[in-house]
Amino acid sequence: MKLEASGVTKRYGDQAALDRTSFETPADARVIALLGPSGGGKSTLLRVLGCLLTVDEGAIYIDGTRLPNEEAESLVERRKNGFVFQGYNLFPHLSALENIALPLREVHSLDAAAARDRARELLARLGLSGHEHKRPAELSGGQQQRAAIARALAPRPRLLLLDEPTSALDPVMTGEVLDVIGELASEGQHIVLSTHEIAFAREVSDTILFLAEGRALETTPTKKFFTDPETPEARAYLDGLSRYR
Ligand code: ADP
Ligand code: MG
Repeated sequence: MKLEASGVTKRYGDQAALDRTSFETPADARVIALLGPSGGGKSTLLRVLGCLLTVDEGAIYIDGTRLPNEEAESLVERRKNGFVFQGYNLFPHLSALENIALPLREVHSLDAAAARDRARELLARLGLSGHEHKRPAELSGGQQQRAAIARALAPRPRLLLLDEPTSALDPVMTGEVLDVIGELASEGQHIVLSTHEIAFAREVSDTILFLAEGRALETTPTKKFFTDPETPEARAYLDGLSRYR
């Protein structure tokens, strides 16, 4: 999957979260990790890629196709993607099964039996067989996040977009969720994620997109990024991380 941005600006009020940024990933990128300091624009870029937000200036392309700026078209594009945020993803009043089956029926027009079967299949794949009828509050944080990933995957998304999927989890649950993401990556799912789990980003991604102050400062093969980053900003970021590791 190739992601491309050309002069993209996204403002909140008068603040530019993405500031005339341009980048281009390799055409065969499969897992892209967004790294960089907090406030750099990672969440905003994920939302733009997922068509949850439209840009103010510039253009974004996925595999050469420009993402729409019109709300109606954005809605259509949005349904092609799966999104997982850092926490509070699930509908609290619905069972794990219904959390997955409901959007399959309501948004993706599956009939009730097909939606239920698909939900069961995904829960099993994410190690949640036997938990189908539990509500989110009856699941651990790691189980909730795996259910959220199951829901995102159920409609077979073109892109799985993960915004700090483990930041609300303790180390054991973080490990559970990272294992699942690693498996999806090795099965060929196209993933764009932001994470503070640097060792994981290094292991699972093929491309690093380094963002700071609303700009993509470099788009570098993962191996090279960690040994020989192109920009002093990325070097400083990596040096800062390694101080306590
Ligand atoms: P990151 O995910 O890298 O921490 P964000 O994309 O969340 O960065 O934020 C980029 C900038 O945009 C930050 O300065 C942030 O404060 C600002 N920002 C993000 N979301 C909003 C919002 N909904 N309203 C106003 N400002 C926002
Ligand atoms: Mg963020």
